[in-house]
Amino acid sequence: MCPRALEVDPICTARMLPKMLLLRKRATKNFHPSACKRCGIVYTMFKTVLMFPMLLRFLYRATTEVSWRLLFKAGWLWCSKSFFALRAFKKRCKQGIQFPPFLFFSLTNRCNLRCRGCWVETAVKTADGRRQTAAEGEGTFELSSESIENVIKIAKKQSVYFYTMLGGEPFLAPETLWNTIKNHPEAYFQIITNGHFFDEATVRQIKRFGNISPLVSIDGFEKENDVRRGQGTFTKAVEGCKELQRQKILYGVATTVTAENFESVLTEEYVNHFVKLGAMYLWFYVYRPVSADPVPEWSIKPDMMLELRRRLLRLRRKMPIILIDTYWDEKGFAVCPASKGMAFVIGPKGSIEPCPPLNVTKEWIGDNDGNFYETMNNSEFLLRFREFIGEKYNGERSQGCVIIDHPQELAEFFRSERVIDVSGRNFLDELTQREPLASHYLPGKEIPEDYWIYRILKKMLFFGMGAYG
Ligand code: SF4
Repeated sequence: MCPRALEVDPICTARMLPKMLLLRKRATKNFHPSACKRCGIVYTMFKTVLMFPMLLRFLYRATTEVSWRLLFKAGWLWCSKSFFALRAFKKRCKQGIQFPPFLFFSLTNRCNLRCRGCWVETAVKTADGRRQTAAEGEGTFELSSESIENVIKIAKKQSVYFYTMLGGEPFLAPETLWNTIKNHPEAYFQIITNGHFFDEATVRQIKRFGNISPLVSIDGFEKENDVRRGQGTFTKAVEGCKELQRQKILYGVATTVTAENFESVLTEEYVNHFVKLGAMYLWFYVYRPVSADPVPEWSIKPDMMLELRRRLLRLRRKMPIILIDTYWDEKGFAVCPASKGMAFVIGPKGSIEPCPPLNVTKEWIGDNDGNFYETMNNSEFLLRFREFIGEKYNGERSQGCVIIDHPQELAEFFRSERVIDVSGRNFLDELTQREPLASHYLPGKEIPEDYWIYRILKKMLFFGMGAYG
C-alpha cells in the first residue's frame, strides 16, 4: 500500500464528516495510486472531492434531486456552449467586433406584481400627473416571436446559445415564450420570474422542453420579501418552488440584497431554506434604487459591502448549492458586465439597451433591415457607453456600477448622446437627482475567491449569465 494513499491532511480531516472518512478508507483499501499514473489522477480527484464536503453534498443533491436528462441538457447546452460562446466572444473582442456572448430578452413590461424599486414600468400617468397601473394594452409592450426569431437566428451564427428571458413577468407572454423555446431546442433559456405561474402543467412543459432553468425572485423570508414584493408573494413563490422540486427541475432563486434583508439573507438558515426546497443555485444581486419608487434607504451601506463579500465566501465553502454573484471576479476585483459588453438587453419595444436597469437606447432590433449583427457591431452609442464606464471610466474613477457610483455623470453622458428614454419614466431626471451610494468597487480591500471551484466558475462561466446588478 502506497504510504501517500493513507496520508491524511490535518486541515481536511477537521472538515470531513466521519462517514466520508469511512468511505475514503474503504475506497482506498488495497489501492496503490503510485502504481500507475491514471490511478494517481483518479485518486487525487477522488481525494479532492472528499476534501470538500460541500462539493460532494452538492453533487449528491444534483444527481438525486434533478432529473438526469435535465442535468445533461444543462451541462451541454448551458455550461459547455457558454464556454465556447465566451471563447468566440473573446476572439471577436480581439478583432474589434461588438457582439455579446449571451443575450437578454425583456419579453414584456407587463407584470402581475408591483414590487417596490423595480425599474420595469407599466404605470401610466393620469391627466393630473398621478401614476396609475396600466389597463390591459395601455402602456404595455411585448416582443413578437418573429423579432426574437430573427435575433436568435443571427446570434447563433456568433455562437450565442444562452438566452435570459425577463420582463415584467415572462410567463405573461406565454405564446412568445413557448414558441421561442420550442423553436430552439439546441439553445438554453433562463427565465427570471416571480414564481407565481408554476402550476403542474406549466412545470411539466418546462420539464418536457428540458432546456430551461427558471430563476425565481425571492427577496428574503416572508416579512422582508412581502414588504418589497407584496403581501402573500413569498408563500406563492415558495409554492412554485415546491412544484419545481417535485418535478425535479434544475432551478435557482434570485435574491436582491438590501439594507433591510442583509442580516437574514446572508445566513446559513436562509440558504438552507432553498436547499431544502431543491434550488441548485442562489443568485445574489445588490439593490439598485432605479425606479419611480426607488427607496434609496434600502441600498447597501458602505461597511456592508465588504461584509457581503466575506459572508458570500464563507457560505460558498459550506452550503451545498452554487452561490452566484456577478460583482467581483475570481481575484475579488469589481466587475461591471456592461462595461465588457456582456449585458445588452432587447427591451419589450425592440430597443437595444446597455443593461437591464438602464432603459435608454439609440438602436432598435429592426434597424439595418433587421440585420442585428450589423446594428450591434456598428452601434457607436454602445461602444461609447462601454468606453465611458469601461476603460476611461475605470481608469479615472471606479470599477463598480456606474448607476450606483456616478448617477449624475451617467445622466449627463446620456444627455450628450441624445438617447431615447424607453423606461416609461423620466429616467435621466431620476439619475440627476440621485446621490452616489455604496459601491462594490473596494480598492485595496479585494478578497479573492478562496474556493477553487468558484475560481474556475468565475473565470470561465459566471459573467454574462444573467450578469447584471
Ligand atoms: S447594473 Fe451596474 S454593474 Fe450591473 S451591468 Fe448595469 S451598470 Fe454594470
